[in-house]
Amino acid sequence: MPADTALLWLRRDLRLHDNPALAAAADADRLLPVSVFDTGHYGLTDFGGDHSFTYEKTAGQRTRFRIDAVADLRERLRDRGSDLVVRVGDPAEVIDSLASEVNAEAVHVHTRPTPEEKAVERRVENRVDADLIPHWGHTLYHPDDLPSDVSEIDDTYTPFRKAVESAATVREPASVPPLPPSPELDSGEIPTPTDLGVDVDPIDNRSALDFEGGETAALDRLDEYLWETDSLREYKETRNGLLGRDYSSKFSPWLNEGCLSPRRVSAEIDDYEDRRVANDSTYWLRFELTWRDFFQFQFEKHGGTFFTPGGIRQREIAWNEDVEALERWKRGETGVPFVDAAMRELAATGYLSNRGRQNAASFLANDLRIDWRQGAAHFETELVDYDPASNYGNWAYVAGVGNDSRDRSFDVLWQAHRYDPDAEYVTRWLPELDGLIPEAAHEPWTLPESKRAGLAYPDPIVDPETLREE
Ligand SMILES: Cc1cc2nc3c(=O)[nH]c(=O)nc-3n(C[C@H](O)[C@H](O)[C@H](O)COP(=O)(O)OP(=O)(O)OC[C@H]3O[C@@H](n4cnc5c(N)ncnc54)[C@H](O)[C@@H]3O)c2cc1C
Repeated sequence: MPADTALLWLRRDLRLHDNPALAAAADADRLLPVSVFDTGHYGLTDFGGDHSFTYEKTAGQRTRFRIDAVADLRERLRDRGSDLVVRVGDPAEVIDSLASEVNAEAVHVHTRPTPEEKAVERRVENRVDADLIPHWGHTLYHPDDLPSDVSEIDDTYTPFRKAVESAATVREPASVPPLPPSPELDSGEIPTPTDLGVDVDPIDNRSALDFEGGETAALDRLDEYLWETDSLREYKETRNGLLGRDYSSKFSPWLNEGCLSPRRVSAEIDDYEDRRVANDSTYWLRFELTWRDFFQFQFEKHGGTFFTPGGIRQREIAWNEDVEALERWKRGETGVPFVDAAMRELAATGYLSNRGRQNAASFLANDLRIDWRQGAAHFETELVDYDPASNYGNWAYVAGVGNDSRDRSFDVLWQAHRYDPDAEYVTRWLPELDGLIPEAAHEPWTLPESKRAGLAYPDPIVDPETLREE
């Protein structure tokens, strides 16, 4: 009887641990793990609108991270006697041709709830002769374990969270199976950023962390954050921080490229709670991972409506298209230091704290009233941890068109003084404000004209009085 062959199409699930698609595919006699650098993820994409905006789909830091993650996975597979075939191209063409070459009977893949990712899956499914077998492996809770069908989950977070906390359990992480041999095939070169047409700047030495792609670095960071530095113990108190490696977990890039499984994080928290401490902070990390799940399931429920200007609430808001203001926001030159510092950190590192993201996003959507999707598209380009559901879901939420029935506008000046009382954060990213007392560093327009003239820093783009909440 001919050996039965499975192809494992790895996408944003670049790990061996807790990988349900790998566990299922490894039942075959021969296993061909494949990673495709989808050319559709690189280069310019058209945003549309009255002006023809274009965005680079994936900028340098995420490109570098993904390349490193694929290289790491290849090594880990080779260590177990398998291999990783790497190609650059259209996944439908690549998977079809490889599946025919090795006579694969099945193609295993992790499915995703967001429209672009689903569309690629459909194209592959329509093209290959083999069966495409979808798996679900990127959330804490499995959709089959939710108390209700995904189409019926609540659109606000708290009822969703309460429902899963009381009636769903997190599955045990899947163990790494023994790997069957791979068919003989040219394994292919891993592309460089230049091959993909992407420029990568060196990592800025002010970056919160050197985010190194791959499962090896992911597990190291998990170990460091929980066990070595014991930072989890105080996560709830520190998570709104702006500076440093350990105010928050920084797991997001690894979670989103699939180098780290949220169930593995949860199992490690269980262990930490048994051996060290169970407190509000250990609870809160799961609470945040549940937010991540919430957006994944919301996209499964609402699909493309999330990307419309009025979002899932279908609100009629007259968003404007002020090109100059948008560009100033992107460059971190709005003249509002707390917002500008965030935008410069994002540009230099690809990462931004949750507090920074909320303020930068609220300023664009609620103060400048610029179409929030322009901001989300810019974050999509830049973020090392970009995920469509987390990014567009959070943006819609902040802009008042998503999973929140209240209008949430951040008072960015209040936020600046509250979360950066010594102006350490703004001066780190805006050295031109260095030496000013905190009040002036956050509100340079309050300085006398003579002093302001000497600062190489722009006047605010909006009347600062309008930024204060009533
Ligand atoms: C406008 C905006 C855009 C965002 N875009 C993204 C994105 O593209 N990708 C992304 O992973 N997160 C996004 N977030 C959520 C959040 O800011 C990041 O997950 C978090 O800052 C990552 O740092 P961390 O891993 O140290 O987080 P921690 O505070 O350590 O949280 C642990 C994990 O919980 C999850 N999490 C925490 N907060 C959220 C949240 N609000 N929504 C969803 N998941 C959450 C993340 O997976 C995170 O890694 C966005 C938030 C805003 C306001």
